[in-house]
Amino acid sequence: DANRTSRNDTRSKAAFERAKQFIPGGVNSPVRAFKSVGLTPLVIDRAQGSRITDIDGQTYIDYVLSWGPLIAGHAHPDVVEAIKRTAEKGTSFGAPTEIETLMAELVCERVPSIDIVRMVNSGTEATMSAIRLARGYTKRSKILKFEGSYHGHADSLLIKAGSGVATLGLPDSPGVPESVASHTITVPYNDLNAVKIAFERFGEEIAAIIVEPVAGNMGVVPPLPGFLSGLRELTSSNGSLLIFDEVMTGFRVHRNCAQGLYDVTPDLTCLGKVIGGGLPVGAYGGKREIMEQMAPVGPIYQAGTLSGNPLAMVAGYTTLQMMTEEAYQLLERLAMRLQSGLEKNAQQTGVPMTINRVGSMICPFFTDQHVINYDVARTANAETFRSVFRGLLDRGVNIAPSPFEGWFMSTAHTDADIDATIEAHRQALQQL
Ligand code: PMP
Repeated sequence: DANRTSRNDTRSKAAFERAKQFIPGGVNSPVRAFKSVGLTPLVIDRAQGSRITDIDGQTYIDYVLSWGPLIAGHAHPDVVEAIKRTAEKGTSFGAPTEIETLMAELVCERVPSIDIVRMVNSGTEATMSAIRLARGYTKRSKILKFEGSYHGHADSLLIKAGSGVATLGLPDSPGVPESVASHTITVPYNDLNAVKIAFERFGEEIAAIIVEPVAGNMGVVPPLPGFLSGLRELTSSNGSLLIFDEVMTGFRVHRNCAQGLYDVTPDLTCLGKVIGGGLPVGAYGGKREIMEQMAPVGPIYQAGTLSGNPLAMVAGYTTLQMMTEEAYQLLERLAMRLQSGLEKNAQQTGVPMTINRVGSMICPFFTDQHVINYDVARTANAETFRSVFRGLLDRGVNIAPSPFEGWFMSTAHTDADIDATIEAHRQALQQL
């Protein structure tokens, strides 16, 4: 039913009202509330492959994919089977299991810079722990991040953040002490010169640069040529660490993550989303010498009751094993088909639009400008985004409810899905 032209949200509305009585804003993560698009969110009943179905019984072609993790599509039969089989043996032990080592081996084999890896429960935990490690290892306090990048909600990273923080216009969150915020330096993405200046001023104090190697929380913004290698040089020559936050890009843009795609080797890498196959997982890893500063080998502390959870490990392991060279080629082909269809729609309807894309991370910005950082991303037309978002939803296409998020695709998406999406998009643009 990708061609219907209106949405029934009777049940979703009632369920969301009830949720608001017991959950802040009715949601357990802010952007889910659809606040910035002024609608009632889809309240989900189930999903399968490329399709997601709300409790009103409407099915949508899904480009949110739980905000990135579901690279093999929703409820992939192999993943579901693996979770069931594992659950029957117990859901958590708080003791070592063999699947954790299998998972760690696979991650070390696929990610060039990771010699050794620690599993946690979310991307936020991964980045928070990597930052602590970088500070402990270098014995320095400051970190450098980029405006409009989101690295989870740890205090020192919630400064000029992207994603929901940007969507809701909350650049600096209350509750982060000034003394913590003062250790975070922010500069524009893709601006190597600004990074150089920061090093001239604070060089001896900077523990690490943390960067999304493809920015995915200000819309999708690829690194300009030389940007990532420039960060590598500047950190090395100043005794700082380079942390790639690959929570979104890891196993999404390339079989060997963004670092494999761009051939730049960070000291530490943070992972999440895809490596959990739809269950709660994060990970951080890197050079053995650095990672072994963590307890119980070294003195820097980090722990987790449910870390390395067997259900999460087996869901991630099964997902990663499906992500062959051919799977990434399929994603590239589907994503190119979508990109060119959307671009053609914009040309035909005369709507200013620029698409940034790296693999199956795609972001149409409603602007003519080349989007290289958050300041440019913010110039895109927010009203057009809202109208197109509604137009797509009315026609059975679900994208993230924010202009600062990309569209994700899975290996379960088909040419027919893409073509129906392009048609819905054409109609949504025409209706502006
Ligand atoms: N880093 C990046 C690059 C992310 O995109 C996200 C989540 N969108 C996070 C960290 C935080 O991950 P989580 O939501 O699992 O805590």
